[in-house]
Amino acid sequence: CGIVGYVGPARTIDVLLGGLRRLEYRGYDSAGVAIIDEHGELGTAKKAGKLQALVDELDARPVNEGYTGIGHTRWATHGGPTDVNAHPHLGDDGKLALIHNGIIENFQELRAELAAEGAEFLSETDTEVAAVLLGREVRRTGELLAAFRSTVSRLEGAFTLLAVHADEPGLVVGARRNSPLVIGLGDGENFLGSDVAAFVEYTKRAVAIGQDEIVAIRADSVTVTDFAGAPVEVAPFEVQWDA
Ligand code: GLU
Repeated sequence: CGIVGYVGPARTIDVLLGGLRRLEYRGYDSAGVAIIDEHGELGTAKKAGKLQALVDELDARPVNEGYTGIGHTRWATHGGPTDVNAHPHLGDDGKLALIHNGIIENFQELRAELAAEGAEFLSETDTEVAAVLLGREVRRTGELLAAFRSTVSRLEGAFTLLAVHADEPGLVVGARRNSPLVIGLGDGENFLGSDVAAFVEYTKRAVAIGQDEIVAIRADSVTVTDFAGAPVEVAPFEVQWDA
């Protein structure tokens, strides 16, 4: 139900947990994070329950200090609120992590298709089909952004999706259809959020992602395209926010 993404020099776990805390008002039943450090090490943690359960898990088993990360609070629609069903979901090579708000309406067809090719699923979520499909597309295309484009083009329903891949540290990709996604423009760092609350503490310059658009953020760049890859002009605005 809440999504945050970050690339930059700050301690990434702090940015992600701070963002998730400011999105808590939307309600949720589980939370999770995925962070990639400069060596391409992917660390993930996820827990059913309140954010504090995730914080306790991170105290017990810290992930890396990172500089590229995604964070999620879940409001379960497919599969109960368990640790396994919490996001992020990983591709089957363990190198990519994906989070999702919304509902993938055609997940059963996709799941059957992937299972017929030998894919295995750990969770009961609609989301995991997107992670497995993305993993397959990364192997085919050799590139996260191209793989993400072809993956989201196959999904129906409502989704805000963010993904990271261990072989491409410094990159977070995102897409949206019938579900919101906003970029926060920083100085040497960039943010993504399901709403501006996720990053307003750090920057008030934002860009609203349009319907059926894909975004790629790095520490020093932001690109937006449609699902086919055609560039989209971005129009930054100032967030009006009195906190
Ligand atoms: N449909 C997904 C799930 O149940 C995402 C729910 C959400 O928006 O948090 O895992």
